[in-house]
Amino acid sequence: MTERLLHYLKCVICNACDFDILIEEKDNKEIRMGLLTCKKCNTQYGIKNGIAGFLIEPQEEITNELQGKREGLYKNGKLHDMASEEKILKMPYVHKEGEFGFYEGLAANFDAMLGKMKLFKEASILDVGAGNAWSTNRFAEIGCYAVATDISTVQFAGLESADFFLKKGTYFERIQADMNLLPFKDESFDYIFFNNALHHSSFIDKVLRQAFVILKKGGKLVLVGEPSYGLFSKKEEFGKESRDNRQINENTYRYFRYKKAVRNAGFRKITFFFPPAIDLKLSTGEFGWKRVNKNVFRLLHVIWSRLAGTWIMTVIKKILMLPAALLYNFQVHCIAEKS
Ligand SMILES: [Zn+2]
Repeated sequence: MTERLLHYLKCVICNACDFDILIEEKDNKEIRMGLLTCKKCNTQYGIKNGIAGFLIEPQEEITNELQGKREGLYKNGKLHDMASEEKILKMPYVHKEGEFGFYEGLAANFDAMLGKMKLFKEASILDVGAGNAWSTNRFAEIGCYAVATDISTVQFAGLESADFFLKKGTYFERIQADMNLLPFKDESFDYIFFNNALHHSSFIDKVLRQAFVILKKGGKLVLVGEPSYGLFSKKEEFGKESRDNRQINENTYRYFRYKKAVRNAGFRKITFFFPPAIDLKLSTGEFGWKRVNKNVFRLLHVIWSRLAGTWIMTVIKKILMLPAALLYNFQVHCIAEKS
């Protein structure tokens, strides 16, 4: 972390914003090792490998998920294919066999949202549940003051992976924290960004209320690719593998549940977009669609590819948004403003 981060931090125990800082090791970019002490309640937060540790007494579901994230890096005792420096530096433009275009969809969603966010140089952006922080790195490349948080610091899955990017010349902050208890001052960020992350919280209302408070006036909440389920979804199948095998906290919420939570948190000017990942799947027909009947998928693909790029398609997407979200697994792709 850098000393600039002190202007953003707050103690998660007493909410005070004043810290004493002890620097044990520093390099040309940041403080690598040290200690922050809350001046009011004396709670101590360690700084290790540049990461400020704000995960204090985590709940059981968090400790289970941390364990699962560590174990999930291995398959049959070996690190899995995606757990490599080379792959992480290429994220999200990577491919994984048998994943139904998961990464291709991730990239399509991210790139499309980047085009809509109107990020500006020096904007402060908080990337919540950033994992190995490839998205935070992109914001830093654009010139933003970017801050990644995640519960995990483990290399490849968590925040220590940031060192791969930092070696290449960008800089962004990393904080180990629980999204249910974010350690930031009121009105400190221009953007708060969740990429496929919000649903990992069991308390989305609480998380979004905090996001609202932490955002500056005119700041934007951005949700990318949050999974939802509809009337015909098999709710229990969503995230089953990672939930059962790795104790990952995979919650499923309805599309309208997200919408309500965003509105109740205080946001106005809320825009939902047709998810680019779904558009990509339907127009290419390449990746198949987990949980969707093959014939239905083929039929949709034929219609989609014929109409791609026409005004009819634009209208279809607008008309289809709500029924699709109501009926089926649909991703929440949204920008909401704190006015
Ligand atoms: Zn304190």
